[in-house]
Amino acid sequence: MAWDFETDADDQAELDWIEAFMRTEVEPLDHILGNPYDLKDARRNQLVRPLQARVRERKLWGCHLGPDLGGLGYGQVKLALMNEILGRSRFGPTVFGCQAPDTGNAEILAHYGTAAQKQSYLQPLLDNEIVSCFCMTEPQGGADPKVFTTRGEPSGDGWVINGEKWFSSNARYASFLIVMVVTDPEAEPYRRLSMFIVPADTPGVEIIRNVGIHSGEEGSHAYIRYNNVSVPNENMLGGRGDAFAVAQTRLGGGRIHHAMRTIGQVRNAFDMMCERALSRETQGGRLADKQMVQEKIADSWIEIEQFRLLVLRTAWLIDKHKDYMKVRKDIAAIKAAMPKVFHDVAARALQLHGSLGVSSEMSFTSQIIESFHMGLADGPTEVHKITVARQVLRDYQASNDIFPSRHGLKLTQQAREKYGDVFGPIDDQI
Ligand SMILES: Cc1cc2nc3c(=O)[nH]c(=O)nc-3n(C[C@H](O)[C@H](O)[C@H](O)COP(=O)(O)OP(=O)(O)OC[C@H]3O[C@@H](n4cnc5c(N)ncnc54)[C@H](O)[C@@H]3O)c2cc1C
Repeated sequence: MAWDFETDADDQAELDWIEAFMRTEVEPLDHILGNPYDLKDARRNQLVRPLQARVRERKLWGCHLGPDLGGLGYGQVKLALMNEILGRSRFGPTVFGCQAPDTGNAEILAHYGTAAQKQSYLQPLLDNEIVSCFCMTEPQGGADPKVFTTRGEPSGDGWVINGEKWFSSNARYASFLIVMVVTDPEAEPYRRLSMFIVPADTPGVEIIRNVGIHSGEEGSHAYIRYNNVSVPNENMLGGRGDAFAVAQTRLGGGRIHHAMRTIGQVRNAFDMMCERALSRETQGGRLADKQMVQEKIADSWIEIEQFRLLVLRTAWLIDKHKDYMKVRKDIAAIKAAMPKVFHDVAARALQLHGSLGVSSEMSFTSQIIESFHMGLADGPTEVHKITVARQVLRDYQASNDIFPSRHGLKLTQQAREKYGDVFGPIDDQI
């Protein structure tokens, strides 16, 4: 019997170091710098690079990577405990070399890239010398890749890509884009698409506009048009028609790491809620002493702990099976649970801060918008719930007649057949 909810002393010492480093060095960056992915921002580099160097010295850089890619091969449980601290800050993942979508794109390159591509893109990506973009969603729909129309056609020794992609995060800062393209329109639905690496400076890659999420921000989610973009054959990642399998390489890890970081963000909102409850007085007493406020605190604590345990158990299952597909249901479940716990806790925290809570001087409205980000990016919540339900139902069978197998009369009949001796012959009992 081995159930253990404790962190061993050595790992806890590392987590304590990360905690202190994040509080004192990294979290302040969120309030003075722009986009963590903007490598052309001199101030960003001036402040972030030395912190990255300290993380490397501490041997905590790129902890999600296996030893073959220069990482320490941390298991997912250890990563979960680390990421829930990093998630508190926009800059946390970048300072520790584990920011999405670069992590997932690196996994794709490591699996499917040629030696030359690994040299040109993978190593600089792992070193945060460049950043990358993943282009899957199209303007007519993202939740269903079967509606994608961006087309790749063979031409000489390569392919020519035409079409539009939507909400491609960080394209404006990226050195290369990984793009999902229809290469075989007549094939069965899951064999129609292939994945390509497209250097961002390839002629024909046109950013139509950069869409923002918060009003007034400099947008970073690109609406991109590919106009006769030529790439050589070796830029196809995986085989022709393999795009879904290639995409899976990145999505499993990406989703659980998002969930781990979300715990950090939700706890930020929760901490603020608790501080407010203890600080504010109204109607002759502290908010903390009003029962409806206590309910908000209790509900939030319970929901965060439930979510955290589900994330940690899923991390543990990934470590155990070493195969994301075997843990698909659990990953989909945390992806579906994540936006709700984030939204509900941030909304309660906002409410307890009153007018200050809705103001631009506090972070709650951004957190609530961010909760919708969690419920959309990497697929909407509904789609993940469908996955959970389908996987769950695989373990069940239909009843073999019109009444349920656990219908009360049937169960009584079965019980009497088993223990009938005590009650006398069945005929006498009915
Ligand atoms: C902040 C952010 C960053 C993103 N970054 C990227 C990126 O880098 N690269 C990229 O390719 N994409 C990115 N996306 C896009 C994201 O993957 C899509 O938003 C998502 O897949 C949904 O696609 P859609 O927006 O076209 O919505 P649609 O596909 O139009 O779906 C709209 C809504 O319909 C409902 N719905 C959809 N399908 C079902 C169903 N089967 N059953 C019930 N209801 C359903 C859901 O409520 C869904 O939200 C990002 C999105 C956000 C918000």
